[in-house]
Order: sequence, then structure tokens, then C-alpha cells
Amino acid sequence: MQYRSAATVPTREERRWQHFEANKQMHAVRKKIKRNRKDKRVRRKEWIPENLDDLDALDALPQLERVVPLGERERRESMMSAALASLQEDRSCEDETPPSPQPPGQSGVVVEVSSGLCRVDVNGRSQLCSLRGSLSAEDTGLTNVVAVGDDVMVSSNGTDRGVVEAVLPRRSALVRPDVFRSHLSQVIVANAEQLLVVASWREPAIWFELVDRYLIAAQRNGLAPLICVNKIDLVQDMAACQRALQPHRDLGFRVLFTSALTGQGVDELRDVLHGNTTVLAGLSGVGKSSLLTAVQPDLDLRTGRVSDQSNEGRHVTTQATMLRLKGGGYVVDTPGIREFGLGGLHQGELVQYFPEICALQPQCRFSNCLHIHEPGCAVQMAVQDGAVAATRYHSYVKIHSDLAS
Ligand code: GDP
Ligand code: ZN
Repeated sequence: MQYRSAATVPTREERRWQHFEANKQMHAVRKKIKRNRKDKRVRRKEWIPENLDDLDALDALPQLERVVPLGERERRESMMSAALASLQEDRSCEDETPPSPQPPGQSGVVVEVSSGLCRVDVNGRSQLCSLRGSLSAEDTGLTNVVAVGDDVMVSSNGTDRGVVEAVLPRRSALVRPDVFRSHLSQVIVANAEQLLVVASWREPAIWFELVDRYLIAAQRNGLAPLICVNKIDLVQDMAACQRALQPHRDLGFRVLFTSALTGQGVDELRDVLHGNTTVLAGLSGVGKSSLLTAVQPDLDLRTGRVSDQSNEGRHVTTQATMLRLKGGGYVVDTPGIREFGLGGLHQGELVQYFPEICALQPQCRFSNCLHIHEPGCAVQMAVQDGAVAATRYHSYVKIHSDLAS
């Protein structure tokens, strides 16, 4: 393999290869951490990464933040730094060794997962795969090795069934607490870039609290949030509909108005979806499937329910299904969407997701004002004056009452 100079932009293959190398390094680090656990004294050392790709490999760490007890993160970080530093020391003593061979097989994207099996999109071809036995989620704080959206390397052993040899480091991860082991997390979707919050104006009526919950969840999981108001053919007063969404637009959220029935706004939606991996969220019945069909009429929305081609009678889907768009990009429809996002969020942190409330905080009589029942609260006054949207304030109060103090 020819390496380019640092000044040139790496190709997609090279980038994947760099990620694989970073992954291997993380694996070595984790092994080292495990060994170091026996030694109570954690070596503290300033560590400055030489290679930014090492940081890519640490991307998954913030996801652990809210499932670990206070102080645990610092402990892990110091262990990780110590392990990386000593790993680099070890390496500096080594003779220059040639780069290890590129992982076997082809790169692909996981589009469905079930226990021990997954379906991988390899250059537009769907390949059913098992997982290489050595792949493990041990020490990651996660329960699943592979998730929908993961970039993987797949080898073929001459049968219909491929083997996932490596899971490349994630750029983002949508996580929720594991159902059975709540101290661990489960990755629902990896590497998604945006979350499309779909609501309908009527039938069912738009539920702003749920919209705001999803917007917070998107931001906490590192996804760009977008709002889509569907069924605008049922809107009697379009100006009122737009006014209702204006507070969100003022906060910088992009709002699309669509009708899967008339096709209004569908071109804009298609543009937004193409080239990205987008997770759809929204109540059942708001028109998510209808919108996807409007965007791409031949999209097979039943994919998740079809058993694999080798006819073993096994259904692959469990948590989420990813559908490939012709124009590039994927959409992910996940039933688990309601559960992720707000777990681990504390009452005191909520206000940061309501910048319009945050901005008024200094004007409240009490510096620790929660903006709910306190006298002299600038936020409650602003809601009465209409300067803060009542819908947004209502979401704040409802979500606040559900969170742990
Ligand atoms: P999902 O559960 O979110 O996937 O919603 P569906 O796509 O299954 O749609 C639920 C119902 O709403 C169906 O009866 C659709 O025909 C209807 N529907 C979907 N989009 C629209 C729309 O833009 N306008 C109207 N009037 N009905 C729609
Ligand atoms: Zn206040």
C-alpha cells in the first residue's frame, strides 16, 4: 500500500485503514489497562497525542460519561492516559517495524443486527455475516460488539456467509442503558450524523414536549437535529403553523414542512437525507414511512422483516434497520428511539438545552432559581409576556419533573 504525504487528503480506504490501526492501538491500551488494574498506583503523566487519529479512537468515551459514577470518569481517563503514555514509551524502544497487513476482506456498513449475526452492505450488495469470535465488547462499558451503522471489514470464506473481522472506530453512537444490565450501555445506531424529528400537525396533533425531548437527545448524542412537520395538507391556517414553529427556528433548528400526501416539501427532505445517515424519530402515525416512500418510492420498508437469503429461517432484525438511499446515505428507523437520550441527565443540566431560559437566569431574584414556582422569576414573567414560548417552557417544566435531582 502506498502512503501519501501528510499534506494530501487520504482516500476513503486509507482513512478506514487508519481507523483500523487506531482501533488496534485502543485494543492494546485496554489490555494494558487490564494489566495495570492489578497495580493500585496509577501512573499520572502528561500525555499529548502525536496523532489525531488516536483521538478519533477515543470518540466513544463521552458516551460512557453518564453511566459511570462520579469520579469514575477521571479514574478511567487517568488510566487511559497512563496506558497510552506507557504504550508510546514501549513503542519508542521498538525498532521500526513495517506496518501490519491491512485487515482481510472488504469494507462495508452494518444494516441489521441480531445476536451473533448481522447483515452488511458491501458496495450495495447485502451480505449476511457472523462475527469473528475474537471480537469482544469487554471493557468498553457497552454490551454489543456491533451495531447498525458500524463500518466493518468483512472476509468471505467461500460460502454465502461472510465474517466480520473488525469493527472500525465509531464517529458517533446513539446509546441507551442496557435492558438487563443498566450499568452498561447498548449502542442502537453507530455513525449517524443527524436525527430527523418527525411530527404531524394534526392526526396526531403535534406534541412539542416530545419534539423537545428528541432535540435534547440528538444534541446529547452528537447528532445534528432537524424537525419535520408533516401532514401540512391538513393545516387550515399555515401562518399559525409557522408561528408555532418559529421559536425553534429562532433557536437555530431547521424546520421542514412536508406532506407525504401532496408531495409538498418532499424535495427538500430528499436533499436533507441524501449523503447522510439519518435516524428518524417520531410517534407512530405521524407519517415516517409515508415520507420515506415519497422520498424514494421503491424503498423496501419491510426489509427488517424479511428472513435471510440463505433460507435458514432466521430473522435478522432486532433493534434498528438501516435503509440505503439511491442518492447516497442511509435512513434508520428504530423502535427503541424513545428510550435513549435523557437517561442520566440531571435536573441541573437541563437548562443548557433551553438557551432562551438560560439567558434570563441572571435576572431571576434567586441565583439558584429553577424557574418553576419561585417568586421574582424572570423566565415565568417572560412566558407571560410571550417573550419565551409557552410550548418550550411547558417542555422544560415537564422534562424537569421527570429528571433526577
Ligand atoms: P408512521 O407510523 O410514522 O410510519 O406513519 P405512516 O407513514 O404509517 O402514516 C400513518 C397514516 O398517516 C397513514 O394512514 C398515512 O396515509 C397517513 N399520512 C402520512 N403522511 C400523511 C400526510 O402528509 N398527509 C395526510 N393527510 N396523511 C398522511
Ligand atoms: Zn427563574
